[in-house]
Amino acid sequence: MQKCRLNGEAVYAFKVKDENEIVDVEYEKMLRRASEKGQLKCEDCEADIIFKFGNIKIPHFAHKNDLLGGGCSYSRESEEHIQGKKLLLNLILKAYPDVEAEMRYRFYNGKRADLYFKFNDGHQLVIEFQRELNSLSYWEDKREFYQSINVTDLWIASGKIDEFENILREYEFIFQHRLFLNDNNNMLFVLDVERKELIIASKMVVNDEETNEIIMDRIFYKIYDINDIRILPNGTIDCEFDKEFKHSKDTFVQAYLQEKRRIKEEQERLRKELEERNKKMIEEQKGRYKEEQERVKQLIENINHINNNFEKTEGFSEIKYRRKGYGQLNYKQGSKKGYNDYVRNDDYYKDKVNKAISGHRYGIENLVRILVNGGSTEYVTIKELFEIEISKGNEKAKKVFDEVMKLSGLD
Ligand SMILES: [Zn+2]
Repeated sequence: MQKCRLNGEAVYAFKVKDENEIVDVEYEKMLRRASEKGQLKCEDCEADIIFKFGNIKIPHFAHKNDLLGGGCSYSRESEEHIQGKKLLLNLILKAYPDVEAEMRYRFYNGKRADLYFKFNDGHQLVIEFQRELNSLSYWEDKREFYQSINVTDLWIASGKIDEFENILREYEFIFQHRLFLNDNNNMLFVLDVERKELIIASKMVVNDEETNEIIMDRIFYKIYDINDIRILPNGTIDCEFDKEFKHSKDTFVQAYLQEKRRIKEEQERLRKELEERNKKMIEEQKGRYKEEQERVKQLIENINHINNNFEKTEGFSEIKYRRKGYGQLNYKQGSKKGYNDYVRNDDYYKDKVNKAISGHRYGIENLVRILVNGGSTEYVTIKELFEIEISKGNEKAKKVFDEVMKLSGLD
């Protein structure tokens, strides 16, 4: 035990020896005298308390009657719990030398706080240093009470840093840790008494604002030397945690957004590539289709050409046949019914002759038909027209004329 009552006032065994192992002889003398006179009383059971401080043992109190001590709740308080409270008490006393402070503070209704402080500015703060919190109603009941009397409460869990580092998944935490992470401004404080270090942990949850998807949900924590932090009268802990938390979160978000951008760009690139490839494929197909069309067109043309030649040959044999059948040209004159009904003039023959000379399709054939079916008028007219052209020095006219005459059998 570290605390008991002397004439109703709180006295502490640890005050005998400070951090540098320097003994406060006056304080020690006061406690020894009170102990011998039976003036030290247990806070919890009112039993007599004795002060113990030997060469090896650290200053402490104990129930005078061991049997009774075994039954008193206070004597069962662990060394770790005492040390933790001491650390926190000294931390605040160092920062606020004129603070009103008490360990195991007892409120008017019998409820106790592990540490109670009343600051100059009127702020009241209690610190609960808990080894384990298994009762939710205990915690809720206490918090409700502190709120009702306008006292700020700060809850610090007792724990080992090594153990904490091994479990960083929220669901693996003990109930108390989860409770504080979710309720106590999302912050969990764990004091490692042996290492004199405080862990501050908080949940870091990041949402993708576009998809509203949780992209990070983890425990962020930092370890601070107890001397590097400052507990403020309003119960907050002044240190670099907020800054480091924000920095870590920002760094993650930046990296995430960058990666997202990169993936998007990559997708866009792939999409374009695919589009390009499809376009090329369609072009190629179109090209092949056109070639095919061209080939079919050529085939049709070839077939037509063959048919034309065939027709021509047929036509020629017909001409020859007819000529043979009619015999003389003179005989045919007038016998071709309808032929002379046409109004023939020089222009009509001129056109036919010109077409034949210029190599017009069927030009020669038409002239041959006219000559074969016609009489001397046609022959004379056509011959004259050719002669005019030939006289002009038209070599082609001469050649065509000869061919026409030959085909008509008039040569
Ligand atoms: Zn007791």
